[in-house]
Amino acid sequence: MPEEKFEFQSEAAELLKMMINSVYSNRDIFLRELISNASDALDKRRIEKLKNSELADFKPEIRIIRDKDKRTLTISDNGIGMTRDELGKYLGTIAKSGTKEFLAAAKSEDNNNQENLIGQFGVGFYSAFMVADKVEVLSRKLGESKSCLFKSDGGGEYTLDDDASRDECGTTIVLYLKPVDHEVITKDYTDEWTVRDLISKYSDFIAWPIVMPVTRHKDDKEVIQDETINSQKAIWIRPDSEVKPEEYNEFYRHLTHDWKEPLAHIRLNAEGATSFKGLLFIPSEAPFDLVVDPNFGGISLYINRVFIMNDCKDLIPEYMRFIRGVIDSDDLSLNLSREILQDEPIIRVIKRSAQRKIFNELKKLLENDRAKYEKFWNSFRQIFKWGVIQDSEHAKTILELALFNTTNSDGWTSIAEYKSRMKPDQAGIYCLAGRDLAALKSSPKLEAFKAKGYEVLLMSDAVDEVILVNTADALGEDNLKLLNISLDSVNVQTDDEKSAAEAELKEVEAKFAPVKDQAMAAMGEKLEDVRPSLSMTDSPACLRESSNGLFQMEQVLRAMGQNPPPQKRILELNIKHPLVKKLMDMAESKDEQFINLLEILYDQSLILEGAVLAEPASFVKRLNEVMTKAFGA
Ligand code: ADP
Repeated sequence: MPEEKFEFQSEAAELLKMMINSVYSNRDIFLRELISNASDALDKRRIEKLKNSELADFKPEIRIIRDKDKRTLTISDNGIGMTRDELGKYLGTIAKSGTKEFLAAAKSEDNNNQENLIGQFGVGFYSAFMVADKVEVLSRKLGESKSCLFKSDGGGEYTLDDDASRDECGTTIVLYLKPVDHEVITKDYTDEWTVRDLISKYSDFIAWPIVMPVTRHKDDKEVIQDETINSQKAIWIRPDSEVKPEEYNEFYRHLTHDWKEPLAHIRLNAEGATSFKGLLFIPSEAPFDLVVDPNFGGISLYINRVFIMNDCKDLIPEYMRFIRGVIDSDDLSLNLSREILQDEPIIRVIKRSAQRKIFNELKKLLENDRAKYEKFWNSFRQIFKWGVIQDSEHAKTILELALFNTTNSDGWTSIAEYKSRMKPDQAGIYCLAGRDLAALKSSPKLEAFKAKGYEVLLMSDAVDEVILVNTADALGEDNLKLLNISLDSVNVQTDDEKSAAEAELKEVEAKFAPVKDQAMAAMGEKLEDVRPSLSMTDSPACLRESSNGLFQMEQVLRAMGQNPPPQKRILELNIKHPLVKKLMDMAESKDEQFINLLEILYDQSLILEGAVLAEPASFVKRLNEVMTKAFGA
């Protein structure tokens, strides 16, 4: 097939334009990106070879060739290579999930920030266009006889040409370098020391040899000899004290393609019956994939410094799936498959150890660096808190690491902090769960607690209600049970107050009876009971439960398009409120507006919980009828 022309997918074209025109000073990163791709390609080929022993042996290598006269820099690898389709797909489009967000961020920022963004974002292959006017990629896929040549000058187009050949599988990238320009700081990337420096700085830990021919003088003669530039020392093998923070950051970026620095790194080092080493990272923000993909996450597994697989889920509990990193053990067999992995006793040992270290690191962060810890909490709490349900052994630890909103403070509060402010007579930790923090803050159920100065934890994540229902005594201490104040059994009345209230309620019993009868007759399928109440100070009504149910979960499921069975609730009416007094009169006189008013009180209680009404139209209709009547319109 002759050379064919294609257009870059629109986002790719936009990104290219930005790369080329950017005044970004750190153009150097292009080399790290291309070497990183080459290293991945070698990993992939080695795995194919492990799976299929008939494939030819090979000596993995990344080769860098500088040509001062032609002003080219060539990066080649004998990795897995790409087919013609793959060249178009991978280099002609950007499939990366973050690209759109990146472009949006870049557009809204000023130029300085744009520089920063480019530097931090793993822009991969496209970064080549920051230093080159023209890029050629010749590739041959493992197991194929044909090669293909991709060419682009960074304009809107690229070409693919099958009339090209490469002896072995792998990829060769030739960069036709831009002129050296000291003003925009384009270095001479054909200079040996420039390239050496960049490799040491960014790619030293790459597991495969990065080989570069260099010219040396021997006995007055110039000789060209191959030199391996990187130490190939796995970063997780080197002592922590010898690894610089930038090296950790570089490695994290190589591993995750996340351009934001991690919050912390954790070293694993076990020797003895089971020996393994590892390096884990707590990212600073949740990557897009983590939010949208329930299967996202996992650790890279190495055996004896050799990469085995990405995203290994068995090395880490599911509720820690935001943790990234590598684990390397000498005690596993090389022909390990994903399927048998979870049954390996060593894997379980590693998982426990990793888990313990992660808990310790989080504890340390919480104690010593609250700002960082809150960043972690803001990003990952929704995943992490599921551990309270999934891992009963560590439920207490996780709750102790948890932060909550409360009625007494605008920021996050830990259980320990809550405990230090608890009143001596408290029966436990008062909690209120709901979908929305603002709604929780104005819940009528808080009124009695606020009036007496009790602090209440406000729990607005979907998982909180499940915690409250299933693991209320996870903290293991009697006065530290999580008490759901939505339950009618949880209240803060003293015995005297209770008897006074009972007497007061008794007085209205007869007058309230018609309210209850008519309400239950009309709304029996939604209501378990209708009760007179004195627990509120300002609001006319609220909805409670007699036993723990999953009311918020019901809402979440509805929002997800499912149809869970509706749960019956108790409607509490504040008998001191003028509207409720009126309601009692209306029940007595069989006023036709009675049921409208009652339904409105029921619906407004739901609205205050942040719920979405099942039939908003009927709410509005009732409201209008009542208002028309009230205003005599
Ligand atoms: P990223 O590496 O972040 O996925 P890139 O733009 O750098 O993004 O590369 C896109 C894809 O192109 C890679 O995921 C890989 O599949 C393929 N690719 C790039 N370079 C090579 C290479 N040297 N050998 C094989 N495949 C490559």
